[in-house]
Amino acid sequence: ESLDKGLEKSKESFFSKLNRAVVGKSTVDEEVLDELEEVLITSDVGVGTTVKIIRRIEDRVARDKYVNTSELDNILREEIAALLAENKSDDVDDDFSLPVDKKPYVIMVVGVNGVGKTTTIGKLAAQFHKRGYKVVLGAGDTFRAAAVTQLKLWGQRVGVPVIEHGMNTDPSAVAFDAVKKAVDMNADVVIIDTAGRLHTKVNLMNELSKIKRVVQKFLPEAPHEVLLVLDGSTGQNAFIQATEFTKATDVTALAITKLDGTAKGGVVIGISDQFKIPVKYIGVGEKIEDLQTFHKMEFVDSFFK
Ligand code: GDP
Repeated sequence: ESLDKGLEKSKESFFSKLNRAVVGKSTVDEEVLDELEEVLITSDVGVGTTVKIIRRIEDRVARDKYVNTSELDNILREEIAALLAENKSDDVDDDFSLPVDKKPYVIMVVGVNGVGKTTTIGKLAAQFHKRGYKVVLGAGDTFRAAAVTQLKLWGQRVGVPVIEHGMNTDPSAVAFDAVKKAVDMNADVVIIDTAGRLHTKVNLMNELSKIKRVVQKFLPEAPHEVLLVLDGSTGQNAFIQATEFTKATDVTALAITKLDGTAKGGVVIGISDQFKIPVKYIGVGEKIEDLQTFHKMEFVDSFFK
């Protein structure tokens, strides 16, 4: 129910746009498809994914000869679900459970400033902590003083240790110490923050590789997850960031934030399709509990209800 609430804005908007596109039309014809294309694009589904969806519906219209506009909702829902399924954006382990055979589970969190990276780390820490996992945080965004301070505050709030070396220190040293601390205290999960400076691409790549290398010296299989945080309300910027970060490092999962305040939930569909990376978490508010594991059908349903 909270997901429905969180996505209300995007839902209403997508839904009303969709309804407007078919008003007064009984069959899905070229005009309706043109309108639908526009609706998908303006909902930030992205051009590539939009074209793919339109093609699939065109195929269906060609096959079935006559498709009623009243069926469009269901057809779209099926096509979007199929796209999400292709890239394993399926239900992830519910309730923030961690794999038992990977301990400590190391999550490296990447993303540009302002997308909600620190908040997402805090929310994740809270969820893991709530389930009885021992959590360690690493303040690896040493480029911004505020980032270190903010992460420390989250650590205090949740009640988990934060490893930090202050500002302008080597992020890989922070990451190393965080993982070491986790091993020492038999922790279940380490979440490492990193600096997201996209304007220096080479530096970004080098920095992320170095963090990985150094962590691997201590724990060869780490990081188990590289989580890219994207702001779902920024539309095309989110696509650009996903492009840059997937070039810089092997991103294994996505967290898409701020889906509560946007009419553009389509980013989730487009990014997941374009980059073939599963969406694992969605942020639906500023509060500590406003992070949810992603459920494909629930998401698609709330988009159309
Ligand atoms: P960072 O610079 O990427 O670490 O971003 P922050 O974690 O500091 O978040 C930036 C702003 O976005 C803060 O005001 C957060 O409260 C807000 N924020 C983060 N996630 C969400 C979300 O899911 N929904 C909403 N509405 N705000 C969010």
